[in-house]
Amino acid sequence: AHEGILRRQSARESAARTYARALPIVPVRARGMTIEGADGRRYLDCLSGAGTLALGHNHPVVLEAIRAVLDSGAPLHVLDLATPVKDAFVTELFRTLPAGLADHARVQFCGPAGTDAVEAAFTLVRAATGRDGILAFSGAYHGMTSGALAASGGARDVRVARLPYPQDYRCPFGVGGERGAELAARWTESVLDDPKSGVPEPAGMILEPVQGEGGVLPAPDAWLRRMRRITADRSVPLIADEVQTGVGRTGAFWAVEHSGVTPDVMVLSKAIGGSLPLAVIVYREELDAWQPGAHAGTFRGNQLAMAAGTATLAHVRENRLAERAADLGAHMLRQLRRLAGEHACVGDVRGRGLMLGVEVVDPEAPAVSAGEPIVTLAETARPAEEQPRPAAPRLAAAIQRECLRRGLIVELGGRHSSVVRLLPPLTITDEQAAAVLDRLADAVDAVSG
Ligand code: PMP
Repeated sequence: AHEGILRRQSARESAARTYARALPIVPVRARGMTIEGADGRRYLDCLSGAGTLALGHNHPVVLEAIRAVLDSGAPLHVLDLATPVKDAFVTELFRTLPAGLADHARVQFCGPAGTDAVEAAFTLVRAATGRDGILAFSGAYHGMTSGALAASGGARDVRVARLPYPQDYRCPFGVGGERGAELAARWTESVLDDPKSGVPEPAGMILEPVQGEGGVLPAPDAWLRRMRRITADRSVPLIADEVQTGVGRTGAFWAVEHSGVTPDVMVLSKAIGGSLPLAVIVYREELDAWQPGAHAGTFRGNQLAMAAGTATLAHVRENRLAERAADLGAHMLRQLRRLAGEHACVGDVRGRGLMLGVEVVDPEAPAVSAGEPIVTLAETARPAEEQPRPAAPRLAAAIQRECLRRGLIVELGGRHSSVVRLLPPLTITDEQAAAVLDRLADAVDAVSG
């Protein structure tokens, strides 16, 4: 069965297939962090549906919540009508919101993917401000939609300006650390204040508190607070895309809480649906400039996803799984630093909570000055030997394959697909964490020759 399924799917599915290419397995059963393939092999899953499975696969509280809806005879599809299931979800969601938002927030159900909620956030801030531009950051990932609203008529073009996202290892200013983040913030400020910069009048600024697909890049708290000030001073709504960072993943229930920043809009998906598709935006009520029907969608009311989401949010909150993610993540990061010390092909390790990344580089190639050389300030740049080595995507892919052979599923991310990403469920045990680190270390050993 295993080989036949793989063969048929690769023959019939589109050339855009992603995970299935790098991970030729056929999952047939899963529980917690473990996936079992059709060939009987078992894997520890550090992909977790790209960060969706906060409680791992088929957690009993999630299954029970889904069964309860199925057994109750409640309708499974009612568009966005009011239901007890939705009422419970919204109540639990608001219980978790950052303090500054919870009392004055509105929720809009979008449907059903993260990218839909991002689009909704843009539509909202454009309606609220009357402006068109969106400020976004280099390396960002917000989804894959484009054009549907334009094709329906009436949509004005979204004009996006890309600003430098702070990062330590491949700092666009060649300096890293707090100084690099400070330069990135100043760059943003000067571009916004320069009428000749060509940056469109901003309706909003969207950022990921930790870039995920971009290669696990945690934004420094000071930089996030600075973005909050910059946007507040200019009356530009700040949109936090917490599609991947939300629900405890980074060691706080929402990643913006580390910095104390209260965004105007939060974009939420993935884990909030407890492994079923669900996406919402939550925003300050003053921004609710929408007319009835200004944002629609057939699948905004998935009752099973709401029930699974309610159970997940409550379980993470009641069991303090965000704290667990913070503690275990810090421990795993320390272990990964040791791995980096032992292997020249590990250029950098980083992360926050249980969102961890290992950047694979070519140790023999000469150092490069910057990942995205927006500008290099010669007087502040790090010495050449401290500059990052070039990304090594082929080596990263080899590590991913070696991990799979050892029963460990990992994802690759980053602009060059050279960052091994670890997104285990928040329910991962100490023993499973040790096994993940062992298998990864063995895989790195194997490719290091
Ligand atoms: N925003 C972020 C931060 C994401 O990580 C993703 C998906 N990886 C999205 C948006 C898009 O979500 P979806 O794939 O559900 O459209």
